[in-house]
Amino acid sequence: MRARIAIIGGGPAGAQCARTLAEGGAQVVLFEPRADHEKACGGGIPHRGLARFPFLLDPRLPGREIRTCTLIAPSGREARVPLRDPLRVFRRADLHTFLLDRAATAGATIVRARVASFERRRGIARGPAGGWRLTTRPPTDEAGVPFDFLIAADGASGMAGRSLRPGRIRTETSQGIGYFLPVVADDGILLRFFDRLRGYLWVFPRLDHASAGICAPLGEPPAARLRELMDDFLRVRYGAVAVERAAFYAALIPGAPADAVTDRVQGDGWALVGDAGRFVDPLTREGIYYAMLSGDMLAGAILAGRPERYGRDWARRCGPELSWASRHAAGFFATPFTEALVSLSARSESVAGVLSDLISGRQDYRTLTLRLLRNAPLTGWQVVRAALRRRRLTPRRDS
Ligand SMILES: Cc1cc2nc3c(=O)[nH]c(=O)nc-3n(C[C@H](O)[C@H](O)[C@H](O)COP(=O)(O)OP(=O)(O)OC[C@H]3O[C@@H](n4cnc5c(N)ncnc54)[C@H](O)[C@@H]3O)c2cc1C
Repeated sequence: MRARIAIIGGGPAGAQCARTLAEGGAQVVLFEPRADHEKACGGGIPHRGLARFPFLLDPRLPGREIRTCTLIAPSGREARVPLRDPLRVFRRADLHTFLLDRAATAGATIVRARVASFERRRGIARGPAGGWRLTTRPPTDEAGVPFDFLIAADGASGMAGRSLRPGRIRTETSQGIGYFLPVVADDGILLRFFDRLRGYLWVFPRLDHASAGICAPLGEPPAARLRELMDDFLRVRYGAVAVERAAFYAALIPGAPADAVTDRVQGDGWALVGDAGRFVDPLTREGIYYAMLSGDMLAGAILAGRPERYGRDWARRCGPELSWASRHAAGFFATPFTEALVSLSARSESVAGVLSDLISGRQDYRTLTLRLLRNAPLTGWQVVRAALRRRRLTPRRDS
């Protein structure tokens, strides 16, 4: 008999996990109450995600291709960086529908219900620890049949993730607030840094609107101050009307801890994927790629008959980068660094190239300093050349 697997949550993590499991012949039931739900999110997926999951380029999935990034420093100085590898921005409702359809097509059963609780009982499934029985709202027949394996993919505040791995909200958790703006003002994405803010503001254009938001560590500063910073900037840039007509959102963003390499993400007969496992870059707050990757990796380990390998493989593949990001996030958002980053990106193609690779995921964090140091002579020459050009273009005043 095939093992029966329950997945709680049909976001990118749960849907991708269900697809891979079903494709591999597993009997998988995914519980997701919401349909066409627009999650609070930028919706941006960089090149790294598009390369790993090329079906995201399917023309049936509407998305906007982005080729430039405007950076704005705390001082207001701007740099426009061409992106060597375009990223795509999606409506989350479109992404969820697309990924769930793929899972269903491969044979996963999608149950439109919320999992209200679950319990483990001996003797109702294979394995010494027994199986899982779920209850759903509304009640469903599928939930009553015991499961051998339980996957929590229920996002940042989901009850399954929190009860399988209890603990306080970690210091890495961020607050994210924003708007769906009824305008698409720019053709590229915009990232705005602020003085003494361990986060940033973003504007991601989509096909018929833009997702704008700001993120910072939870409570630092208070949410009201964060909203003030965002509103002031958006009003000046896009006009007061754009903000007044926009739909507001607020959500928690988990962040991988500094000990991501040893963090516990599974146990006997259960595992966490995506935001439920806090698989979000604590620096950029990018999580869709990590959600899909973790779902895929867990499914691969289960299909190989070695589910226990998942935690170790995950830690080996993503732990070092995410731990690095967690340890260095404060330094990255320090004003001297963001000012230098924007200033150098404006004047040096070499620094702009490194930044483009960082956004696309081609450049990892841990070798970033080394690459910048190696490029230093070229960067220096480009900065001098830019200064000379500016002087030539500035008309001289007659004495
Ligand atoms: C403001 C903001 C902006 C962001 N911007 C970006 C970005 O631009 N790019 C990026 O890569 N990441 C971004 N992220 C992070 C990204 O949204 C998440 O990392 C990603 O959605 C995680 O996917 P997931 O499948 O783990 O969880 P989710 O997408 O949250 O999906 C969880 C699903 O579980 C379901 N669920 C919850 N409880 C239950 C239950 N009891 N029973 C059944 N189902 C349940 C929910 O309905 C939901 O559909 C952003 C996050 C925020 C908050």
